[in-house]
Amino acid sequence: MSRTTNKYVKNWNMLDTAIFYIEILAARIKHRLQEEAEPAVEEIIDAETQYLQEEITYYRAHQRPGRIVEQQGTYYCPECRKCIAPELVDIFKIKYCPECGKRIVKHQPIAIGKEITIQ
Ligand SMILES: [Zn+2]
Repeated sequence: MSRTTNKYVKNWNMLDTAIFYIEILAARIKHRLQEEAEPAVEEIIDAETQYLQEEITYYRAHQRPGRIVEQQGTYYCPECRKCIAPELVDIFKIKYCPECGKRIVKHQPIAIGKEITIQ
């Protein structure tokens, strides 16, 4: 066997050994997953689904825009009734209440079909 071939075989053997150990490791992981994780996976999915449904309900309730309450030059959140700094409304034009996260608008959105028409 030539020196080059010998080196090639040696490297090939190292690679083969590495693959062999990776295969053992993969088999062990697979075995562990089958033994332990399978009932837990269903529990995780159920918990995640329930969590997402609760989140969707929460966001739906908060995404419907509420009109900012204006009383004597002071703004209030229509949801939590807390005072909102006027600069946040007039300058920064915030879209959400900084206290409760409710979506807020200063004016009622213009209804479609009610635009001013040229006479
Ligand atoms: Zn609020």
